[in-house]
Order: sequence, then C-alpha cells, then structure tokens
Amino acid sequence: MQEAVDRTRQNGQGPSFAHSPTIAIIGAGVAGLCMGIELKKAGISSFTIFEKSDRLGGTWYDNSYPGAGCDVPSHLYCLSFEPNPDWSRKFSLQPEIEDYLDHCAVKYSLFRHIRFRTEIAGASFDEQQGLWRIRTTTGEELSAHVLVSATGQLNRPHVPKLVGLDSFEGTTFHSARWNHDHDLAGERVAVIGNGASAIQFIPCIARVARKVTIFQRSANYVVPRFDRAYKAWEKWIFRNVPFALRLYRALIYWRLEARFFGFFRDSWISRKVREGALAHLREEVSDPALVEKLTPDYPIGCKRILISDDYYESLARPNVEVVTEPIQGVTRDSIVTQGGTSRSFDTIVFATGFETTSFLAPMEIEGLGGRKLAEEWRTGAEAYLGVALSGYPNLFLLYGPNTNLGHNSIIFMIECQVNYVLQCIGQLLRRNLLYLDVRREAMDRYNEQVQRAIEKTAWAAGCQSWYKTEQGKVTNNWSGFTVEYWWKTRAPDWNAYELVPRA
Ligand code: NAP
Repeated sequence: MQEAVDRTRQNGQGPSFAHSPTIAIIGAGVAGLCMGIELKKAGISSFTIFEKSDRLGGTWYDNSYPGAGCDVPSHLYCLSFEPNPDWSRKFSLQPEIEDYLDHCAVKYSLFRHIRFRTEIAGASFDEQQGLWRIRTTTGEELSAHVLVSATGQLNRPHVPKLVGLDSFEGTTFHSARWNHDHDLAGERVAVIGNGASAIQFIPCIARVARKVTIFQRSANYVVPRFDRAYKAWEKWIFRNVPFALRLYRALIYWRLEARFFGFFRDSWISRKVREGALAHLREEVSDPALVEKLTPDYPIGCKRILISDDYYESLARPNVEVVTEPIQGVTRDSIVTQGGTSRSFDTIVFATGFETTSFLAPMEIEGLGGRKLAEEWRTGAEAYLGVALSGYPNLFLLYGPNTNLGHNSIIFMIECQVNYVLQCIGQLLRRNLLYLDVRREAMDRYNEQVQRAIEKTAWAAGCQSWYKTEQGKVTNNWSGFTVEYWWKTRAPDWNAYELVPRA
C-alpha cells in the first residue's frame, strides 16, 4: 500500500486526489480505529473518523454495564500488530478494553483525526465527481472520495414495544445505555432478556438488589468460561520471551477456529457440545424445575452460545427468579405475564439486544442513479465479502453483512477487511480511478455461495436469533472458518470490479 502511494506520487499521478484520496470513516470503534491506524501506516493521513459519541470505543464505550467484558480471550481480542502482554485476565473486562483502545489511538496519533459528537445522517454518491456527499445530523455537508462504514452490527439498542410501557413510573434503561446514576441497591429489578449481556450483569446486580426477576423468552446454552487473572510470571514471559506472546495468540486462534466444527448442523461434534452444555447445566443447577426452564429446545449454536462462570450460580440465589411466561404488558408499577400474574418493580432493565439486521440504518445511503440502500436491503442485507456493495462505488463496510462469528475473534475479521479496503484504495490511487464498483454478478454469485454454506450450519436451524431477519435469512454471520475468509479477502479480484478511470 505504501508502495502504491509512493509510486503514485513519483509518477505525478492522481492530481484530483491531491496525493491521497480523502476518506471518511464512520465510527470510532475497533473497526474504525483499525482502519485509521492502517491508513496512517500506509502513509495516508487524509482521513477523518466521524464518531457520534463523545468518546471512542464503539461497543466498548456503549456497553459499560456491571460485569461487561469480552468472551473472546484477551490475547486474541486485540489488534495483531498491537499485542498487549499486560492483559490482566484471560477474558478482559470492558474498562481494560477501553483503555487498550485509548492506548492505540494515542500511540498512532488518531485523536487529531476523530471528530466526536458528529453523527452522519446519510450520504449520496456524486458520479460526476467521484465523491461521496455526506450529511451530518446537524445539516453540515461534507465530501470524501472514499466512505468507510465502521458502525458494526450491534450499535442500535432494541427496546421492545411492550403494551403499557409508557405508563411505567419506575426507572427503565437498556443494558447498552446503563444508567450509572441510578443505584439498584435494595430495589426490585426486572431484567428482560437473558442473552450475552444479561448473563454478565445479572450476577453483579443480584448481589445488591433486593430482588431480580429475569423474564426469559428462550433458554440459552451456557458453557463455562474458565476465566482467571494472569500471574506476574506469565506476563513477564509474554513481555520478555521472544515469540511467546505470538505463539500463545496463535494457539488461542487455532483452538477457537476448531470450534467451528461444532457449528455444522446435526454433526456428531455439535451433539457432543450440546451434551456437554446440558451436563454443565445439571451440575450447576440443582432445582429440576429450574433445569427444565433453562434447557433450550433448539440445536446448539443456533443462537449465540453463552460463556459464563457465574450466571447459573447467581440463579440459585434466593433473591433471583426466572419467569418464562410471556410478558403481556406493563402497568404503572408492574409487569403482567400471560395468565394474569403481576409483579411489581422499581426498575426495568432491557437486555433485549440490538437492531442487528438493518446494518447502516438509520443512515440514508444513495448510490449510482439515486438507488437507495434501505430499499435494496428490504429483503435482507448483503454485500460482496461483507465489504463492497454493487452500485455504491468507493463505499466499504467493516463488520458488514455475513461477517459476524460464533466461534472466533471478530477483530481477526476486521483486520482482513481493513487489509482488503486498503488494497482497494491503493488501486484507486495507482490507476487514478474515479471509482471502483463491484459487479452485480460477482456480488450475487458470492452471496449464493454464502447462503448455501450457511444452510449447513446451526444458524440456519429452527430458532429466531439476532443473526437472522424476521423472514429467516441469516444476514449477519460468516458461513465458514475464518481462514477461509482470510483467504478470500487477502487480495481483491479486480475482475469482480468495474474500474472507472477519471476523464
Ligand atoms: P441478544 O443476544 O440479542 O439477547 C437479547 C435477549 O432479549 C434475548 O434473550 C431475547 O430473547 C430477549 N428479548 C428480545 N426481545 C424480547 C421481547 N420482546 N420480550 C422478551 N425478551 C426479549 O442481546 P445481548 O445480550 O445484548 O447480546 C448481543 C450480542 O452482543 C451477543 O450475542 C454478542 O455477540 C455481543 N456481546 C458480546 C459480549 C462478549 O463478551 N463478547 C458480551 C455481550 C454482548 P430471545 O432469545 O427469545 O430472542
């Protein structure tokens, strides 16, 4: 990439780019920061990262609920070129991950590129100029040659429209907007949802609340996390013994990668993993009625497998109750379930996940000929390699459609995508292109392959999950091993693109 930039400068090419194309990146989470760092490493500094919050970190800024942490091992859940020998635990908690991202931004001088409190409302492609015309929510108009969306899949909280919710007089908030000013000590707390977020904060709030009532719509598989702090001597080895950290990271990567075998639908391994998870449930929970409530009725892996050392333990507390009757409605001070049982609460915490399948929404994106992305994605989002969209030139997505994982680190996928986007930007420069646009046939062919492969996985089995649209199309997950994705994204196939030169 650096070579491409240098060569372009030496040849005196690319006057329209004034050395480098201008690049707008939306979102200062892991993906946006990684993109910025790699651009800088490639010698391109004509980029701005637009961030709607007043801090960087993305999901790791938003999700500050008690106990928030990562269920991917720390030494893999970090950028490959910026290892951290000092991770304090096998699975880091949110403050440590936020500190790590701050460290990366400082080390690579990214702060001067980030515009905080700037939310992008939409963008349309100006075909004549080869520019994205970008609008902020305050009406400001900007432009950039290249637009990179790094908004991720989990940034818009989902709050269900429960009947009567507006009439509730107590406190309500979503897990990704935790109200730290509100003390739950001594309160009767309702938690709606029991996904990856809920199982992390329930053990924490159960220690202080008078009563915690969990409204569980579907049971989840839970496996142990085996978390622990790293010892001083281990950190010393990571820091001082050549290659120790790299080797350790590689071992974690391949161990996690092998877990994908368990995601093949109806496979022998998936049956063994299911048996293991149910044995863990029976070991941890002694009450047979509770075991029954907590036993999932769908194949393992269909929804995210949860990883916890203390969730089941917290359910055995006398002040914790699991309710499985569907919620009928909310009153001034209570939640009423089907059958008419009413329970009173001081606070309702929504651990109900995110709007996951609408991807770039609510941004309005218009491509060639005024086509609207929201309309094209009505039946489900799709992209080429999860990165490029036919008809939307010079637009790249990070952590886009069909790039989420159930078995390995999403940061690995993000690095693959950033590498790919850099090569596309290099091509724009090298060939002095007005734009590059992935061909429709290439994108369709790719998505047919992905959907065919997904049919063989647990995600396509019979359950509703955040990986799927309401119609059942899996739009969020990658269909295979991450090495396969790395292989496909290691270098762009330019035959898949229409390369449009400047006049
Ligand atoms: P989630 O997995 O989507 O869970 C949402 C929960 O809310 C589910 O239990 C769901 O029930 C329930 N729910 C939704 N609407 C409901 C309604 N109308 N009535 C009753 N219950 C309702 O969301 P999340 O827990 O925030 O996690 C989202 C994702 O974030 C995770 O899967 C994971 O990828 C990521 N995450 C990662 C970590 C990490 O450690 N890396 C930690 C937290 C989160 P159903 O199951 O029946 O739909």
